[in-house]
Amino acid sequence: MSTFTPFLTALRALIGAPYVRMGADATGFHTDERNRYHHAPLAVVLPDSVAQISTIVQLCGKHGVAIIAQGGNTGLVGGCAVLENTPSIILNLNRLSQIISIDALNQTMTVQAGATLAQVQAAARAQNLLFPLSLASEDSATIGGNLATNAGGTQVLCYGTMRDLCLGLEVVLADGQVLSALNTLRKNNTGYDLKHLFIGAEGTLGIITQAVLKLYPMPATRQVALIACNDLHSILTAFTTLRQNLDARLTAFEMIAPYALSLVCSHLNCVHPWQSAPMYTALIEISQPTLAADETLHTTLVDLMATQTVQNTLIAENLSQAEQFWRMREQISAAQKAQGKNIKHDVSVPISAIAQFIEQTNVALAQKYHGIQTVVFGHMGDGNVHYNVSMGTAFANADALMAHESTINQIVYEHVQAFNGSISAEHGIGLLKRDLMPTIKSKVELKTMHAIKKTLDPNNLMNPHKIFNNN
Ligand SMILES: Cc1cc2nc3c(=O)[nH]c(=O)nc-3n(C[C@H](O)[C@H](O)[C@H](O)COP(=O)(O)OP(=O)(O)OC[C@H]3O[C@@H](n4cnc5c(N)ncnc54)[C@H](O)[C@@H]3O)c2cc1C
Repeated sequence: MSTFTPFLTALRALIGAPYVRMGADATGFHTDERNRYHHAPLAVVLPDSVAQISTIVQLCGKHGVAIIAQGGNTGLVGGCAVLENTPSIILNLNRLSQIISIDALNQTMTVQAGATLAQVQAAARAQNLLFPLSLASEDSATIGGNLATNAGGTQVLCYGTMRDLCLGLEVVLADGQVLSALNTLRKNNTGYDLKHLFIGAEGTLGIITQAVLKLYPMPATRQVALIACNDLHSILTAFTTLRQNLDARLTAFEMIAPYALSLVCSHLNCVHPWQSAPMYTALIEISQPTLAADETLHTTLVDLMATQTVQNTLIAENLSQAEQFWRMREQISAAQKAQGKNIKHDVSVPISAIAQFIEQTNVALAQKYHGIQTVVFGHMGDGNVHYNVSMGTAFANADALMAHESTINQIVYEHVQAFNGSISAEHGIGLLKRDLMPTIKSKVELKTMHAIKKTLDPNNLMNPHKIFNNN
C-alpha cells in the first residue's frame, strides 16, 4: 500500500471511481502539446461541481498533495507538467463546461471554466454577439486555461487579451474556500480587483471555476486580405497606414515571413499566393459594424501599392477564401510540428522595433549557426512575434538542433531584452521559462510575487514551482 492509497480511496468515494484516472487512462492528460513533459500524477481527477473541487482541494491539503489545474492541455510552456518529486493530481475541469447565462442587453456571458473557447464563441454567435478571443487551439482550449494564461490570439489589436475580456471570476482558493467575485459591471471601483491576481497566474494561486466575460456586437461584415511587401519595414509602414485609416475596424494584422509562408503552403498543399516569390506577407482583417459599402481598405491598399510599400494584394472574394487565408496563418505551427522538433520563442517587442529585432536576431543566429532556419510569424499588430528556429542545413538532425537550445534561446532573449521586449508575450512562463524569471524581473517584483503566493497558498499546493521556483 502506498502512502497515498487512503487519499486515492477518499477521492474515489468523493467523485466516483471513473473520474479518478490512473495508468493508461491518464496518459493523454499528462503529456503536453509539445511532448516535452510526461511524468504521471497520482491521478487525473475530473470533478463536475465547484463543491467537489472545494472538497478535493481540502483533501489534497490534508494529504500534502499538489493540485495542477488543467483545461484543454494546449498550453505551450509546461504549465500542466507534473514534477517528479512533487506528489500531485491533475484537476481537469472539462466536466464543468456549462454556459450558465447570457445577458444580451448587458453584453455579458457567465460560463463555467471548463467550457471550450469554441463553445463560448458559438454561444455568443447564437445571440448575434461576439466573443472575440480567437486562437488556433480554440476547439480544445478552455476559458479557465485562457484566463490562467491571459491568452491573446489574433484579435488583441482591437479587443485586448483575456484580461480585458473578463469582468468577474469565481475561484476555489488553496484552503478550499470559494471566492465568488462574479462581477457583471463595467465600472466597479470597490477595493482591490482580485480577479487580476488569478488571471495570468497559471493556476498557481487558485482554481478558476467560473467567469463573467464581455461580449461585443457581432460585426456585420468582415474583409480579409493578404498583402505582400519586400521587407519588414514596408510591412510596418503598411500596418501604420492601415491602422490610421481604419482605426478600430482593423481587427487583425498578422505577419508571415517568407519561409513560414512557403512551409505552410506545402504543408497544406495549397497554391502559394505570390507564386513562391519570397515576400513578407500580412494577413489583414477588417470588421465593420454595418453593411454599408466601405472602400477604405481598397483605397488604402491602392495608395500603398502606388508608393511601392505594398507589392501585391489579394482581397478575399468570399467567406471560403477568407477562411483559406486564415487557415494558412493558423496552420504554421502544425506545419512546423510536422517537420520535427524546433525551438519556439513567443516574444514581444515595441511595434516600432520589430523589424530591427527580427533582422538583427536572424543575423546573430546565422553567424553562430550557418544555415539555421527561422520560422517567423505572429500577431505583428501587437508587437508579438513567434520567432521559431528549425535546424535548416546547420544541423544533421533535429536532436542536434535541440542540443543547442539554451545557446539559441540566449541569443534570441538577449535581443529581446536589448529592444525592451518580453520573453513571453502570450504563452506564459510555466515550467519552460521559469528559470529565466530572475533574469527578467527585478528583485522587488519577484519578492512581491512570492509574498502574494505565500499569502494565498501558504502550503505551496497550487501548481507549485511553476512561474517561479518556490522551494
Ligand atoms: C496550435 C496552438 C495555437 C495557440 N495559439 C495561441 C495564441 O494565439 N495565443 C495564446 O495566448 N495562446 C495560444 N496557444 C496556447 C494555449 O492554447 C493557450 O495558452 C490556452 O489559453 C490554454 O488553455 P487550456 O485550457 O488548454 O489550458 P491548459 O493547457 O490546460 O493550462 C494552461 C495553464 O493554465 C492553468 N489552468 C488551466 N485551467 C485552469 C483553471 N481553471 N484555473 C486555474 N488555472 C488553470 C494550468 O495549470 C496551466 O498552468 C496555442 C496553442 C496551440 C496548441
